[in-house]
Amino acid sequence: MSNNTLINDHRRRLLKTGLVSLTLAPAANLLFNRRAEARGSRAVTGVSTEIPKLPETDRQAIALGYKEDGATVDTSKFHKAEGASCSNCQLYSGSEEDAWGPCAIFSYRMDQKLNRNYVVSAKGWCRSWGPRAGTKS
Ligand code: SF4
Repeated sequence: MSNNTLINDHRRRLLKTGLVSLTLAPAANLLFNRRAEARGSRAVTGVSTEIPKLPETDRQAIALGYKEDGATVDTSKFHKAEGASCSNCQLYSGSEEDAWGPCAIFSYRMDQKLNRNYVVSAKGWCRSWGPRAGTKS
């Protein structure tokens, strides 16, 4: 193999690596921003750092007794299991370190102002709570 062929192969590999990096960088940035926003970080740059919090005044949230702070649930109306919160609910898909995360019941709906799907508080609770595998009910 000649030196020119080796140099061309090397250039081709560099070009491919550069193209892959350019393609993946925006996706990685978007993923990072979403995760940081879910943790409540204000340091993220981009369209909005506001969290599309499900309002307690939402009609469906009222019907299910949703509260951002599970400690404020009216236990005379709802039976809330000890230690139950969105963070250990089977319908919650936020990760452990996230302050807010998607709930299967509410996340299909949009915050109209932010044009993003609603998230619920990890410390929240509603009457649809069900224990995640490995959680006591
Ligand atoms: S269904 Fe679970 S995750 Fe969703 S609001 Fe109710 S308790 Fe929270």
